[in-house]
Amino acid sequence: MSSTVQRNILLNPGPSTTTDSVKYAQIVPDICPREKEFASLMAPLREDLVRVVHGKPEEYTAVLFCGSGTICIDVVLNSLLDEGKKALVVNNGSYSQRACDVLTAYGLPFVEVKQPIDDVPDLHVIEEALKDTPDVGYVYMTFHETGSGLLNPVREVGALAHKYGAFFITDSTSAYALMPINLYEDNIDFCMASAQKGIQGMSGLSYVIGRRDIIEASKNFPVRSYYCNLYMQYEFFEKTGEMHFTPPVQTIYAARQALDEYFEEGEQGKWQRHQRVMAAIRAGIDRLGLKEMLDRRVQSGLVAAVIYPDDPAWDFEKIHDYCYERGFTIYPGKIDNKGTFRLCALGAIDAEDINNFWEVFEQALIATGVAVPVTYTN
Ligand SMILES: *Cc1c(COP(=O)(O)O)cnc(C)c1O
Repeated sequence: MSSTVQRNILLNPGPSTTTDSVKYAQIVPDICPREKEFASLMAPLREDLVRVVHGKPEEYTAVLFCGSGTICIDVVLNSLLDEGKKALVVNNGSYSQRACDVLTAYGLPFVEVKQPIDDVPDLHVIEEALKDTPDVGYVYMTFHETGSGLLNPVREVGALAHKYGAFFITDSTSAYALMPINLYEDNIDFCMASAQKGIQGMSGLSYVIGRRDIIEASKNFPVRSYYCNLYMQYEFFEKTGEMHFTPPVQTIYAARQALDEYFEEGEQGKWQRHQRVMAAIRAGIDRLGLKEMLDRRVQSGLVAAVIYPDDPAWDFEKIHDYCYERGFTIYPGKIDNKGTFRLCALGAIDAEDINNFWEVFEQALIATGVAVPVTYTN
C-alpha cells in the first residue's frame, strides 16, 4: 500500500506510531454496529485479546469498553470490591496514584501501601499490610509504571495476594502486548490494556481481561456505576455477543488489523524489536551524556525517564517543538519535583527511527545553545 499519510515517530507513552495498514483498516463502508457482519468481529477479537496473555478462553474473558485506558481502572476497582471488603493498592507511581484517586472518588475503603517511585517495592512491607488487613478483597498493582519506567514484581505480589485469599488485579496497560505476559505464571486474575498502546491500534477501545468465575461472582457485588460496571458489560456480551452501548466502530476495525499484525510478528519478535528500540534510545542517552531517573536494572525497558540537563539554555518546550516539526514527539515526565522527559519504545518503530531521532535531538540541542555532551551539576 502506498502511503499518503505522514509517518510520525511518537516517543510519548501512547498513542503510539501505527502502521499504514492499521490506519487504513478504519476506512470502511458505514455500518450499523448492530449488524451481524459487525457483531461477528467481536467473539474472535475477544478471544484473541485473551490469547495475547495466554489465557484459556473458558477460564478468562475480555470485556471491551469504549474509552481511554483509565476506564478499565475505573471499571475493575468499582466493580470487583464486595461489600465489607477493602482494596489494597501498592502505590509507587502516577498510575497507581490514579487507582487511589478512583477509589477515593467512589468513597471505597482501601489500604494504600506507599513505596518509592524509583525502586522495586518491598515485598515484606506488602505482606505485612496484607497480614494487618484481614478483609482485603483484591490487591492492585501497576504492572509497569509508565511515568517512571519502573517494572513491578507482579508475579510475586500476585502470589502474595493469593496467599492471603485476595484476588489480584494489575494495570498492564503499558506492558500488555509489549512484553511477554502469562496470566497463569504471573498470578494475574485481572489485567487490562487499551488499543492505542501495546497492540499498536487506535485510541478509544479498552479492555479488561479477567477470570470468568470472579466476574460471575461479582454479579452479587454492589453496583456503583451504570456505564462502568464489569458484570453488566460482561453479561451483555455473553447474551448478545455485542457491546452494551455504541462501540467505537472504526477503532475496532483497526484493532482487528493490529491484532493480526501482532500475531504475525509474534510475542517474542515484538518484544525483541522493543528491546532493540530501547537499546538505541540508551545508546543516544549515553552518547549525549544524558542521565536517567531510574537505574536500568529496575526498568521495564519500554520507557526511559531522562533528567533535564543543568544547562541554563535547556528549554524542554523548544527542544520538543524542534523535534516535533521534524516528525518526532517527545513527552514531559510525570515525576513530581523533578524535571524529566520520556522516551518510550512503544509503537511500530525500530532502531533506525531512534537513530534518526537522536540526530534531530542533537541538532535541537545545538540550535538552542545547549552544550553537547550535556552537563549536570551533580
Ligand atoms: C496509558 C496508561 C493508562 C491509560 O491512560 P489513558 O490516558 O486513560 O489512556 C493506564 N495505565 C497505564 C499504566 C498507562 O500507561
